[in-house]
Amino acid sequence: MSEPARRLTWQVATVKATKDETATARTLTLDVPGWPGHQPGQHLAVKLTAEDGYSAQRDYSIGSAPEAGRLEITIQRIADGEVSPYLNGIAEPGDQFEVRGPIGGWYTWRENDPRPLLLLAGGSGIVPLMSMIRTHDQVNSQVPVRLIYSVRTLADVIYAAEISERQRVSPLTVTFLYTRSGPPETSAHVQVSPVQGSSSYAGRLNAKVLAEAAFPPEEHPAAYVCGPTGFVEAAADLLVAAGHHPDRIKTERFGPTS
Ligand SMILES: Cc1cc2nc3c(=O)[nH]c(=O)nc-3n(C[C@H](O)[C@H](O)[C@H](O)COP(=O)(O)OP(=O)(O)OC[C@H]3O[C@@H](n4cnc5c(N)ncnc54)[C@H](O)[C@@H]3O)c2cc1C
Repeated sequence: MSEPARRLTWQVATVKATKDETATARTLTLDVPGWPGHQPGQHLAVKLTAEDGYSAQRDYSIGSAPEAGRLEITIQRIADGEVSPYLNGIAEPGDQFEVRGPIGGWYTWRENDPRPLLLLAGGSGIVPLMSMIRTHDQVNSQVPVRLIYSVRTLADVIYAAEISERQRVSPLTVTFLYTRSGPPETSAHVQVSPVQGSSSYAGRLNAKVLAEAAFPPEEHPAAYVCGPTGFVEAAADLLVAAGHHPDRIKTERFGPTS
């Protein structure tokens, strides 16, 4: 018998620590007493309330692996945004706001899933996928993982040092796409890469890069795609066109194409 659904309530989160990942992305470590735990891929809702009672709510993926006492979100600052400039810029240790979660039972990776894990991230879409990579390491899973990570430039790679280290010690292969480094239609190999041993291309994701960097459809990978709406739709279409079954592709859209 399945467990009855738990009613989610707002809980007070206290910022424990902040870490700048790039010039525009910051990780907040949160202390949420009684946090029920999460599955890699899930997100939470953040509610900010002003003194006059006005409140704004946004969703943020959980980047940390399920681990008692550790809850991290990483926020990409949107210059004219309402919520992200506070979380990434103003919030500091000791500050409090409300959170509700974990949310999303479908967009999750289960540690006993035997299928190769194919992760496609656009920008801050790396956050829930990083939770999967961290969990994969935490449980010592031996299923191979391939990450295809699209960013504007080298300087926009979130978690670069950690991805580099994890690629060295675990069955993780990383391919970077730099969308501002070259004309979109060429996707030529470029030299510069923040992660030793990884491949890098200039331009957007296309069929050629996917064929070179992803598991082939015959290996029946479980594919997770996350990022801006435009990236997610293009990546999912390319996966299906390459022969990956739609049932094996899970997508999460963060918002408009930037
Ligand atoms: C399930 C889910 C998980 C998410 N996880 C993360 C996460 O881990 N990290 C993270 O940084 N964001 C994440 N987001 C996006 C986040 O919820 C907000 O949309 C984002 O932070 C912008 O909020 P804002 O209030 O600053 O901007 P808003 O005031 O909502 O928007 C300001 C302007 O920016 C545009 N805009 C809004 N969102 C985006 C975007 N994502 N990209 C480009 N332009 C945008 C709007 O169209 C508008 O023009 C997630 C979204 C969803 C649905």
